[in-house]
Amino acid sequence: MTYKNFTVATDADGIALVTWDMPGKSMNVFTTEVMDELDAIIDATVADAAVKGVVITSGKSSFSGGADLTMIQSMFSFYHDEKAKDPAGAVEKVFHLVGRMTGLFRKLETCGKPWVSAINGTCMGGAFEMSLACHGRVASNARSVKIALPEVKVGIFPGAGGTQRVSRLANAQDALQMMTTGSSLTAQRAKAMNLVHQVVEPDQLIPAAKQMIKDGLKPVAPWDEKGFKVPGGGIWTPASAQLWPAVPAMLRKETAGNYPAALAILKCVYEGLQVPFDTGLRIEQRYFTQVLQTTEAFSMIRSLFISMQELGKGARRPSGVPKSEFKKVGIVGAGFMGASIAYVTAAAGIPVVLIDRDLEAATKGKAHSEGLVKEAVGKGRMSQDEGAALLALITPEAGYEGLRDASLVIEAVFEDRDVKKAVIEAVEAVLPEGAVFASNTSTLPITGLARNSKRPGDFIGVHFFSPVHKMMLTEVILGKETGDKAIAVALDYVAAIKKTPIVVNDTRGFYVNRCVFRYIHEAYDMLIEGVPAAMIENAAKMAGMPVGPLSLNDEVAVDLSQRVIRASLADLGEGSVDPKHVALIDKMVDELDRRGRKNGRGFYDYPAKPAKKSLWPGLKDFYPQKRAEDVDVTVIKQRLLATIALEAARTVEEGIVTDPREADVGSILGFGFAPYTGGTLSYIDGMGVKTFVALCEKLAAAYGERFKPTALLLDMAAKGDTFYTRFNPYKESKAA
Ligand code: NAD
Repeated sequence: MTYKNFTVATDADGIALVTWDMPGKSMNVFTTEVMDELDAIIDATVADAAVKGVVITSGKSSFSGGADLTMIQSMFSFYHDEKAKDPAGAVEKVFHLVGRMTGLFRKLETCGKPWVSAINGTCMGGAFEMSLACHGRVASNARSVKIALPEVKVGIFPGAGGTQRVSRLANAQDALQMMTTGSSLTAQRAKAMNLVHQVVEPDQLIPAAKQMIKDGLKPVAPWDEKGFKVPGGGIWTPASAQLWPAVPAMLRKETAGNYPAALAILKCVYEGLQVPFDTGLRIEQRYFTQVLQTTEAFSMIRSLFISMQELGKGARRPSGVPKSEFKKVGIVGAGFMGASIAYVTAAAGIPVVLIDRDLEAATKGKAHSEGLVKEAVGKGRMSQDEGAALLALITPEAGYEGLRDASLVIEAVFEDRDVKKAVIEAVEAVLPEGAVFASNTSTLPITGLARNSKRPGDFIGVHFFSPVHKMMLTEVILGKETGDKAIAVALDYVAAIKKTPIVVNDTRGFYVNRCVFRYIHEAYDMLIEGVPAAMIENAAKMAGMPVGPLSLNDEVAVDLSQRVIRASLADLGEGSVDPKHVALIDKMVDELDRRGRKNGRGFYDYPAKPAKKSLWPGLKDFYPQKRAEDVDVTVIKQRLLATIALEAARTVEEGIVTDPREADVGSILGFGFAPYTGGTLSYIDGMGVKTFVALCEKLAAAYGERFKPTALLLDMAAKGDTFYTRFNPYKESKAA
């Protein structure tokens, strides 16, 4: 029999090698068709008396990324459609639907012939759950092998037996840690956790897997053997009595109760370990069905998987412009940002000419990459040769001659209009016709900068975030005259360096910084009201933000806030900034020299390591302090999230952001906006625009006009719209 996604070849020893290799895809994923074929392969190998056992591996460089999340997404639509027809029966139907994979893997596990999973590369989610159902697991020791159950990162959890099998193989603490964080394991770590049996050289993978069968591997899972004992003895042991009472508290500390899927993992393991294996699977299936009905799961899958992937694949790229090849990228300004941009560009295999005012400064910029390479080699993430090859791609230079054959130039010189003007003119004097000029400015509108250019159609903003090698987002900003070719080149470049782009129209602060400064300014208001700084910072974390607003302000620098405030006052006039904010920041910077982390003193004090930073006690003397019991933490949380979401809504209303996916993904990747919400606009859609408008009206009455819902929101509330229906990103493709 032939299959579309698998090949099956049985050798002289009667071992069937099943190779998973989906046509036309770079990564294997579980789809309904793949499950049907795997089901058929199980039947066929069981029926074939010549087959003694099965080795399953992948024909691609990675093993598999797990379930196709669009399939999971379709379960949401299935549930909503069914609920409309038959509210009582809908949940039961979803329960059966989500059980498909669980049942298939259990069938494999109990088929009577031994199966070995030969893990040749990244093995994630459902694919690792399938491997766990195999009787043997061999992993290659290649550095590319990463093993994980990362579902919790997109709001769901391992629902195809993962919670039950991992907790019956590894000790409970390691199992919970792996699944509630979704973190990746190396092959060695997976072996140490008892999750794989052998780790071998890549070329020994298939022979070792086959050898397990030849050595008489029993086709029975440990939990199906008589007398099976859970590692550590299960729930009712003295050790568990130490562990389990602390587990929910530890989880709450990490997630603030915002992630239903993480809590469900705990319940699955705790309840599942007290019952027979098949009952454990039913428990898992039940919780998975529950989690699938949550707004968090829906919004997280949409933003953190579907939208992120679509934007990464160039959803906003103008069609009709040929794909760009980057033979050389020029970077002008080898300072903090330019040096980092050079590194990520070279890491993508693109030759870079790195230019500064003199060779010494440019060479210093390259030294940044040398440091990062040294670190990566030291940690085993890069080989010596790879590191040397990366560094060989960066050529430091003074003067612009090296740009004569560049197809893209990224400018990262001082944030000063005159300096940038001089650089634009000097670069354009040598840059070939048709090449694109991108500015990394963080505050200067692109349209204004483009006035210095003779080719404004080829001028664009490409705004990076620091630290560049870690931050996944890049904001692409269109000036009034930016043309399609420049957009395409910018997006091709962002894709080449493996970052996710959002495309926004020109405005002061663009999208991300507009939102970020709202967050920080709301904290200023709270300080001025006398809310204790520690409450502001903690409430922010409870709301799901990765960093408190005061801590964030220290990171971006308090004097940068001062510059932003002064620029607003200069450009937009007196009323544009609250005088109390001006007084607070002037006092911090001018009087107290508290500029943030960079000078070791800001809203926090930064003592020498290993001591940790702590809030600066002097803040208490700025304003009369409220007593903690007089502050409503729920309202603090609402204010911090609502002020950001409201600003995001304004950017949509002003036509700055035109696609809700970009607002959502940009907010999560750019500044970690409470990921469980799915991002700024999903936060509003998730609670319903009507509810959000009511919340804003309540906050406006208590805290000021800045919370007043906008005309767009009021109209959407009246019409029952959501951002994803009113600004439907798929409208065009549907109409086509
Ligand atoms: P920086 O001061 O560290 O680096 C600027 C570099 O430009 C210096 O090395 C300087 O020698 C060089 N330079 C100045 N004039 C030049 C000229 N005429 N020709 C060639 N080189 C010249 O500054 P930075 O923090 O890297 O910021 C650079 C740009 O990136 C700014 O526009 C800034 O707004 C933007 N940006 C900064 C951040 C951040 O977090 N620092 C984030 C996003 C964007």
